[in-house]
Amino acid sequence: MTTLIESEEHKALRSAVAALGKRYGRDYLVRTVAEGKPLTELWSEAGKLGYLGVNLPEAYGGGGGGISELSIVLEELGAAGSPLLMLVVSPAICGTVISRFGTEEQKRTWLPGLADGTRLMAFGITEPDAGSNSHRITTTARRDGADWLLTGRKVFISGVDMADAVLIVGRTEDARTGSLKPCLFIVPTDAGGFHKRPIDMELNAAEKQFELVLDDVRLPADALVGDEDAGLLQLFAGLNPERIMTAAFAIGMGRHALAKAVEYARDRTVWKSPIGAHQAIAHPLAQAHIDLELARLMMQKAARLYDSGDDTGAGEAANMAKYAAGEACVKAVDQAVHTLGGNGLTREFGLASLITAARVARIAPVSREMILNYVSHQTLGLPKSY
Ligand SMILES: Cc1cc2nc3c(=O)[nH]c(=O)nc-3n(C[C@H](O)[C@H](O)[C@H](O)COP(=O)(O)OP(=O)(O)OC[C@H]3O[C@@H](n4cnc5c(N)ncnc54)[C@H](O)[C@@H]3O)c2cc1C
Repeated sequence: MTTLIESEEHKALRSAVAALGKRYGRDYLVRTVAEGKPLTELWSEAGKLGYLGVNLPEAYGGGGGGISELSIVLEELGAAGSPLLMLVVSPAICGTVISRFGTEEQKRTWLPGLADGTRLMAFGITEPDAGSNSHRITTTARRDGADWLLTGRKVFISGVDMADAVLIVGRTEDARTGSLKPCLFIVPTDAGGFHKRPIDMELNAAEKQFELVLDDVRLPADALVGDEDAGLLQLFAGLNPERIMTAAFAIGMGRHALAKAVEYARDRTVWKSPIGAHQAIAHPLAQAHIDLELARLMMQKAARLYDSGDDTGAGEAANMAKYAAGEACVKAVDQAVHTLGGNGLTREFGLASLITAARVARIAPVSREMILNYVSHQTLGLPKSY
């Protein structure tokens, strides 16, 4: 019988990654972000240790595990204060899509580098006029001889400055019906006609977001990943891991904030006993802990369903896990800041910047409301308003 109690292997992975995270910690992230640099040292070391590609096939340099293992890696790095956001994108979305649907050539070209972290791939679906409604995506690829010409705009694409390529969700025209169908293209960041502009975000993070303009970017025929007629299915194969990994990102951050608050509440004394003895401080922290644990349980369910090949079952669980983790993270960070009083807003204690960072998990990659819509319609069978 499968159990939701973690296996010995998972426990060992968790504590090994936690030890790595502890060696870097929040100070490393804060210092590196202040210098305007990416988290290269941590990324490279995690890559050499096999953590970045733990979900990718062994035949291509990966660890042969799944999203269950990769989510442990991200959660523990986040709990240590130095999450690697690009884990959500490079190995989880791009690595998964290529290993499941790529050609042998695409797998050999990309997977070993994505697994050891020497190459990185960003992911671009969001568009300025589409946002939550990805059915409105207009980035379009048209045939030009054997090549493709890709034109469109994307926004909020993370880590393009660090990436060798972006997996772009575009559309191709159905020759028979003229309707547009979703397709995935590997677009090198040095391709002609590929323009990127950083977006000025109020996030204290090493990973920057970019607006992309794709102006007749010429791509070879083999830039297309998978089957032109099964784009939607392939897309969802990547979006479920993205949701599960965003949950891991949120749970890690929530745990990090909560640990800081608990440490503070144990010591800080302004009356007879430490503030942590007041239930008005203790209970919300206990609730935050419970919410994070519950979110993790749903994340583990989603990861397990996904890794067992149940894409449909994983879809609902991944949405719920992302929702629960985003909400738990926002609440944990809010309560952590409050627990520290004025110190919650000082740079020294480093919690205030998490307020904006935590909101990312509520908005991206799919907002809280779109998940509530999904559950209303798909699970409960309620009618749609839009
Ligand atoms: C830090 C960060 C990193 C990101 N990285 C990436 C990336 O790497 N790649 C990528 O492709 N995208 C990325 N995104 C984009 C992200 O996925 C989008 O911001 C998200 O999908 C929401 O789209 P939007 O911002 O256009 O909001 P909108 O779609 O404009 O929504 C605005 C608000 O309206 C609500 N809303 C919209 N429609 C409905 C409805 N039908 N019912 C109820 N409420 C509704 C939403 O819930 C939201 O609160 C990133 C975003 C952030 C903030």
